[in-house]
Amino acid sequence: MKIYNQKTVISPDIQVLKSQQHTIGLVPTMGALHHGHLALVKKALHDNNYVVVSIFVNPTQFDNTNDLSKYPRTLNNDVELLKTLNENNRILVYAPSVDDIYEGDIISQDYKFGGIEFEMEGRFRKGHFDGVGTIVKRLFDILKPDKAYFGKKDFQQLQIVKALVRNYDMPVNIVGCEIHRESDGLAMSSRNARLTEEYRQAAPFIYKTLKTAKAKFGTESANKITEWVENQFAKHDLLKLEYFIIADIETLKPVKRKSNKKSYRAFIAVYADDIRLIDNIALN
Ligand code: AMP
Repeated sequence: MKIYNQKTVISPDIQVLKSQQHTIGLVPTMGALHHGHLALVKKALHDNNYVVVSIFVNPTQFDNTNDLSKYPRTLNNDVELLKTLNENNRILVYAPSVDDIYEGDIISQDYKFGGIEFEMEGRFRKGHFDGVGTIVKRLFDILKPDKAYFGKKDFQQLQIVKALVRNYDMPVNIVGCEIHRESDGLAMSSRNARLTEEYRQAAPFIYKTLKTAKAKFGTESANKITEWVENQFAKHDLLKLEYFIIADIETLKPVKRKSNKKSYRAFIAVYADDIRLIDNIALN
């Protein structure tokens, strides 16, 4: 499996593959790979001739320097995991340095995503989606994928990337992939590795609460469910709720009155000590 650290080296190799009419799938990640990531890679291998897995902890999408410095970095292990999927040598790894991506200028571009960038993660992590837009556009420019794969675990990010390619006319198909969970329901996340045993035991409460919210959605108002969730977390000894929102999946705005023509999801962000966990669930 070939591992590239420089755009000037991977870019010509991709051009050669494309000139041979091969299709390229891209799975952008920040590494510390788990089975959620691997499911995206498997789907990409199924759909494309070659798959680039990018591994890059993107500084411009972090609003919290502590979160950035403590983000797990496990490149050797990531490479070993990817090798298990690399049967016909169709995976390329692009693990650039910050300098290879930003060339000494670690700043984001300003992006407009039609308003969805101001909701939820955009409200609580200032500048986050400008950072996401900046890195995704840069990866698309360097790697020229036909398709790119994003998890619904970061549902708002998936909607942002769809808006990015639509608004800025980028010739890439965006494919959304289902959320992968541990057997106790906790959504897989690289940040889970930082949970102490006590917090790890407590964390499945997040998905359990989402499932109950979903069960209530048929008969109760969004306001009432939100109040119920807030109460559940107020009583919890370890987990601190940052937000719980039931939103229209297109606008990502909190729902006021339900319509059976629209699709809704419940979104949640929770602190387990200083580790921020997010999750979401389809409601209808
Ligand atoms: P990350 O490395 O956390 O930036 O994630 C890279 C990609 O993997 C993103 O598109 C995530 O949405 C996706 N992803 C992360 N965790 C999961 C999961 N548990 N299930 C599905 N996709 C995931």
